[in-house]
Amino acid sequence: MAAGANLVVVFPDGRQVEAKPGTLAGELLAAWSPERAGHALAALWNGKPVDLTFRVAEKGSLAPLTFEDRAGWEVLQHSAAHLLAKAVVETIPDALPTQGPPTDDGFFYDFDVRPLTPGDLDAIDAAMKRSVAAREPFSRRELDRSEAERLFARNPYKLRYIADVPPGEPVSVYDTGTFTDLCRGPHVPNVHWLRGVHVLGFSAITPDRPEAHPLQRIRGVGFPTRPELDEYLKIRAEAVARDHRTIGQRQELFVFADHAPGFPFWLPNGMVIVRELEKFVQEHLRKAGYSEIRTPLLFARSVFETSGHWDHYRENMFVSVIEGKEYGWKPMNCPGAMLIFGSRARSYRELPLRLAEFAPLHRYEASGTLHGLMRVRELVQDDAHIFLTEEQIEPEIRVLLEWVKEACATFRLTWSAELSTRPATFLGEAADWDRAEAVLGDVLRSAGVEFRASAGEGAFYAPKIDIHLKDSLGRPWQTGTIQLDYQMPRRFHLEYQGADGRLHTPIVVHRTILGTWERFVGVLTEHVAGRWPPWLAPIQVRVLPVTDAHSAAARGVVDELRAEGIRVDLAPSDESLPKRVRAAELDRIPYVVVLGDREVADGSVSVRIRGSKVARMMSRPEFLAHVADRVRRRDFDP
Ligand SMILES: [Zn+2]
Ligand SMILES: [Zn+2]
Repeated sequence: MAAGANLVVVFPDGRQVEAKPGTLAGELLAAWSPERAGHALAALWNGKPVDLTFRVAEKGSLAPLTFEDRAGWEVLQHSAAHLLAKAVVETIPDALPTQGPPTDDGFFYDFDVRPLTPGDLDAIDAAMKRSVAAREPFSRRELDRSEAERLFARNPYKLRYIADVPPGEPVSVYDTGTFTDLCRGPHVPNVHWLRGVHVLGFSAITPDRPEAHPLQRIRGVGFPTRPELDEYLKIRAEAVARDHRTIGQRQELFVFADHAPGFPFWLPNGMVIVRELEKFVQEHLRKAGYSEIRTPLLFARSVFETSGHWDHYRENMFVSVIEGKEYGWKPMNCPGAMLIFGSRARSYRELPLRLAEFAPLHRYEASGTLHGLMRVRELVQDDAHIFLTEEQIEPEIRVLLEWVKEACATFRLTWSAELSTRPATFLGEAADWDRAEAVLGDVLRSAGVEFRASAGEGAFYAPKIDIHLKDSLGRPWQTGTIQLDYQMPRRFHLEYQGADGRLHTPIVVHRTILGTWERFVGVLTEHVAGRWPPWLAPIQVRVLPVTDAHSAAARGVVDELRAEGIRVDLAPSDESLPKRVRAAELDRIPYVVVLGDREVADGSVSVRIRGSKVARMMSRPEFLAHVADRVRRRDFDP
């Protein structure tokens, strides 16, 4: 292109404008849609987050990035980390900032500094507020290596990052007021965007190199406004009370042990919930025409080379050497399903072939990222692979979206979809990806499902629809995923004989709807705050004899309920009745049944339904039918 000639910029609605090279991304967005530009804290240039002050130099696509977008949320968190570092250095001048990335739920910044005190945090908080009031901008500068080294001469951590910048690339720094930090960016335009920043706490962290100093990590979270922060802090307090790790321990659902970090031990109560969820899913699978398979947990490295995992997912895999050969622990069920499809000749009459597998999967997650059931190293998904033809894609994905809707309604979870497209490194041809992305977008639109687009977040083998659930506190969780894959069947040389007598390659839908049992149970535990609906409750009914004299009758009731498949236990009369009623409340038992003289005499039971202060008299058959009916309907009322 000749110098000075205009270039073409494409916006999300398809509109195109001509712009002079060097025009600011923010100016282009404002000219396109003042309304949407007003919400933008950064921009996406060809799918990559950039500052609003980024100057476009070639043709490309431009979109606003807002706090509602995950990437925008991360930009704000990371910008808040800069603000924090500035405040720390202002408060404790010899503190050395090291790194400050966004995390799953906020941000942190690590400092080489003396041990902090709560008083330091107050001073740091005050310094942050002063910066916010001053509306200091973030401004980017590009330095050559020696300038950057001079600027950070006092900070060995930053010097190490500078050494990592590839030769020939400029080193970028950002100024915020008087504070300068080494960073690739992007950031929010100015610290006025960080009115809702809050420091959550600090802790000492042990360095990974023995000769290094211990660091102090300060954690925080950021919102564009103060009311949004206040709402978050309110929910956070409630979330602490609902933490699945605390409830899981109290209700004896699962435990973790130091000798198997990230590998859950499911206890009897937790297994009840997992099995009930499995039953729920299995019923759907039968109705929707799935068959179930079980394939090995380990495969020779060559299988993962074929599937592409070895090149694209190796850092998340556990590998074992057996008789001198490398084997990978499967991180996903795909290879086994592909091998079964390819194990004999297939006909178009078998398609769609829906193969479900609930096998343990192993994924390497760094120990620092493990978090209760939410992030683990061993997991089981409600997974299936559907082999189908081009024409079968749309109806099949429609059925899947219906199932998402039905499952979420059962659990009283709301959901939204996100369409994730081709990542930076991907298998196969860009044209196939374009087609698959277009198909998924079309199905979502024709099914009337609202969705966000997330550029570059697809799996390495396929674009995907990610399912995001919202729990009773309005917190989002990514669980299920529907992926449309043209690549893996080709790499495994899968074929079926078509109606035309010729051989064709099937397309594969990889899909999991609830996601992993681990994460889903974690989410549900917090969603219901441990008040399991009767169909999921490990103990559905607890029977309390008033005195020892009523014990035999109580055991009779227990046997009767157990014979009907109801999960029931008995609290013997060695403690006072009010104490036992209180304990049942703390254990969140859905039904507490009391048996005294009157009940024994007339064959009734006195029933306390969880959450209600008054007891109800019911005949035994009436009570049994009531519980059985709620369980059968999978009634989700608490
Ligand atoms: Zn930065
Ligand atoms: Zn798969």
